[in-house]
Amino acid sequence: MSTKRSIETTCIQGGWQPENGGPRQLPIYQSTTFKYATSDSMGKLFDLEAEGYFYTRLQNPTNDAVAAKICEMEGGVAAMLTSSGQAATFFSIINICSAGDHVVSSATIYGGSSNLLTVTLKRFGIETTLVDPDLPEEELAKAFQPNTKCVFAETIANPALVVLDIEKFARLAHTHGVPLIIDNTFATPINCRPFEWGADIVTHSTTKYMDGHGMTVGGCIVDSGNFDWEAHADKFPGLTTPDDSYHGIIYTQRFGKGAFITKATAQLMRDLGAIQSPQNAFLLNNGLESLHLRMPRHCENARKVAEYLQSREDVAWVKYPGLPGDQYYELAQKYMPNGTCGVISFGLKGGRAAAGAFMDKLKLASIATHVADARTCVLHPASHTHRQLSDEQLVEAGVDPSMIRFSVGIENADDIIEDIRQALED
Ligand SMILES: *Cc1c(COP(=O)(O)O)cnc(C)c1O
Repeated sequence: MSTKRSIETTCIQGGWQPENGGPRQLPIYQSTTFKYATSDSMGKLFDLEAEGYFYTRLQNPTNDAVAAKICEMEGGVAAMLTSSGQAATFFSIINICSAGDHVVSSATIYGGSSNLLTVTLKRFGIETTLVDPDLPEEELAKAFQPNTKCVFAETIANPALVVLDIEKFARLAHTHGVPLIIDNTFATPINCRPFEWGADIVTHSTTKYMDGHGMTVGGCIVDSGNFDWEAHADKFPGLTTPDDSYHGIIYTQRFGKGAFITKATAQLMRDLGAIQSPQNAFLLNNGLESLHLRMPRHCENARKVAEYLQSREDVAWVKYPGLPGDQYYELAQKYMPNGTCGVISFGLKGGRAAAGAFMDKLKLASIATHVADARTCVLHPASHTHRQLSDEQLVEAGVDPSMIRFSVGIENADDIIEDIRQALED
């Protein structure tokens, strides 16, 4: 199958390829195990000598078909699904980092990723330096250490809506001999394909736009196949030296461009088991089939809502990288000219108190700990996700106490705007 077809077609046709007489729709392989005719043929699977399925904790055909679709959408060479976006971030990092290693990460990332890096991975002996992604290259270079093994950032940061200068980050990572890992959840491959700008590995929380209907928690890791692990073999012994748990195979030698994902499957899924359920993978596949239709509508609606908010006297500020004049508009035009995402943040002149009153009056937009969904939803970080923090701590964390995170859905834009109007005026 050609990988040059347009991404719209891949959304529909990518992944599952039925054989003659096979089911047209992706089957749900609701099976923990797979049957073999001889002891030897199953033994070869355990030695990674043959490709195939033996236990769903490691791999399942339904999941692999959906991972193959996302892989093609991103323009990668190999991909795997995980049980959540958090698991995808975790695996993408620990696949190449061990105790004593170091990560350089953008400071403006999803709160869960920030906790994972600075709290949980720190307990495992992996240190992270958080950097302001807008700093010039020579300032950012100071964050690197001899034990740095990767750089991590988000295409469009949740919830800060900072657009990453991907080429700058790719250059920095590669100058220091390490890969750039990008969480592409908010932009999705419909709006931005980070591999085209030099990123090496992409992760997703498929829970967001990819599913799009608030049904399934899931994640995905895609490898571009572009990073040359052997050229920096001393930094990545897990990929370039023998794995004793598989009779001494060397991933880069045996699997070439598939080394990163094969290692993550064979070691991390085997030992940690954060597999996505095949049922959820099936639902995710359904979501992916309309991603190319939904994303432009999310962006079109978000732009209209952002313009409306900007026109109002009672709105203190609006952030949306798709809005001319936004701090990140130029970067967004470069990396995602067809649209950014559907998430906006704004503050009311009445501050924190006004935010609560506004949200209580919304009828169409639902208050939910969710973003990037077909339904418009809204959250006040100071009252919800960041509730424990004082106003001073909020400002330090980059969350304005007045900030309302508004995730614009794919309803009619006029109806969304009318909902906002009545909540502010009536
Ligand atoms: C939600 C989110 C995650 C975590 O994903 P889960 O599927 O909730 O585990 C990671 N990164 C970004 C940008 C997110 O929005």
